[in-house]
Amino acid sequence: MYLYIMGRGHSGSTILDILLGNSSQIESVGELLSGLSSAHRQVCSCGESLANCPFWREVRSNLEAEGVAWNEPRDILKTGAAALWRVWRASPADPTMARRARITRALARAITACASKPHLVDSSHTPTHGLLLLRHLPEARVIHIVRDPRYVLRSHLWRIRGHLHFSMLRYRFIGRNSSLFLVWLAASWTLVNLTGDLMARAFPTRVVRVRFEDLCAQPARELGRIGSAFGLDLSDVSSKAANREALLVGHNIGGNQVRHAKEVRFDPGGGQAHPPLPLWLEAVNLVLCGPVMWRYGYRLGGSAGRPARSKAALSR
Ligand SMILES: [Zn+2]
Repeated sequence: MYLYIMGRGHSGSTILDILLGNSSQIESVGELLSGLSSAHRQVCSCGESLANCPFWREVRSNLEAEGVAWNEPRDILKTGAAALWRVWRASPADPTMARRARITRALARAITACASKPHLVDSSHTPTHGLLLLRHLPEARVIHIVRDPRYVLRSHLWRIRGHLHFSMLRYRFIGRNSSLFLVWLAASWTLVNLTGDLMARAFPTRVVRVRFEDLCAQPARELGRIGSAFGLDLSDVSSKAANREALLVGHNIGGNQVRHAKEVRFDPGGGQAHPPLPLWLEAVNLVLCGPVMWRYGYRLGGSAGRPARSKAALSR
């Protein structure tokens, strides 16, 4: 089974990825497709480059044995509304979609064979690939992860104020246009999550929505819900999370830097506090995200829901 974690960035996908990867049945590889799209500069969580990591060397060998070149997965991850619309409209026989599905499936086989586990989880989190999987890989399942948008905004605001400029959609956001970026971010939270809801409506047995705050508060219950929806026994990892046992990070690529810790513990109350949102941004959030927040059960007044202090609910 190809498990795919989809949602807005900074919503806790890395944490869920590491949790699931500690199941005896699932191999976690981080943001697989986005990592492979920049394979030449990726450092695996084991500390080696992909060219030197024994795990990824074997994956590459397995993939090439299937007739798929190592650079072919590089261009199959697409982002943006136009790409999403193309996947939605494409017929089941569309050659471009069929090629992407064939490469994804070969990659999954190469990884699970190397890991000696039956399933893998990819937290690349873009809706476009989630939809491709739902339409063209019947064995794929999608976990739609949601987090209070006020946390997502605070996290980005902290980066902006710390002059940790970053690129998104090939633009660099810093300085004067950072306010515009934060407005766009709030709007994109709603659009990404509404897209996830449409996918769940179209493929009700293959999509599960998880609120990150519920995962932190009751990890065993939420993991059990994922397991029963997809026919997976996640009791081993549920127990580890509930007891805050050490979680191992596999050969992960892409995404959050926490993956470079060799071992982490699930810590619902941990993490770093971010300053509150300015009033103008609270108002923007209420207008752009309020209706969807209300539908997901978030309180519209006050600060972001539990866990209020959590930057990443993992401690090293
Ligand atoms: Zn490695």
